[in-house]
Amino acid sequence: MSEHPDHPIGAPDPIVIAVDGPAASGKGTIARALAKHFNLPHMDTGMLYRAVALNLWRWGGDMASEFEALRACDVAAVDPEDPELRSEAVSSIASRISAYPSVRAALLERQRQFAGQPGGAVLDGRDIGTVVAPDADAKLFVTAAPETRAQRRVRELLGRGLPAHYEDVLVDIRARDERDTTRAAAPLAQAADAMLLDTSELDVDAAIAEAVRLVEERLAVR
Ligand code: C5P
Repeated sequence: MSEHPDHPIGAPDPIVIAVDGPAASGKGTIARALAKHFNLPHMDTGMLYRAVALNLWRWGGDMASEFEALRACDVAAVDPEDPELRSEAVSSIASRISAYPSVRAALLERQRQFAGQPGGAVLDGRDIGTVVAPDADAKLFVTAAPETRAQRRVRELLGRGLPAHYEDVLVDIRARDERDTTRAAAPLAQAADAMLLDTSELDVDAAIAEAVRLVEERLAVR
């Protein structure tokens, strides 16, 4: 056995966990809980796309231009705590610019580096198990009925004091699903070796417990 500089002999094997799924499926909450449970760093990769979208929006750039979206990929100046990152306007731009292959390529290396850190990591997004970390030790595909996801999003928006109408949110969720699953570059898809977790009938605690159970089971047979 030869010693790899990133994984000295005696160090525990790194654990990489990929969590993918559509908007408001609960994947972010589940990924954060898995990171806490396994004591791993966590990356919400949707935030990278949101940061590009916010940059573009602030510059007054045109989201219909792949070239302008690519120029917005230098996100070093974006404050990760900026509340605007979670706004519906930014969500909508993020969903569109994430279809550009050059934007995806510009953000890929950062995600791979995060996944490749010595102890491992948990990443959530749309293409973690398929593109970013195809060799992940455990992959979850988290989903829920569009109506359930729309109800959750409405509750979340109202909880943040923002206006929200169920019908509008449902239309938006369906549109984002359509864009995410039909784009040519790294579409949202369940990896062949991903475990499906449908959270439609589960509350947060039950969904997290099931995710931990599935991942532990998978890690036990590594
Ligand atoms: O997950 P979240 O909704 O914050 O992601 C924002 C947008 O970024 C999504 O609409 C999706 O289109 C895009 N995205 C992506 N690939 C990822 C993460 C997010 O295309 N790995």
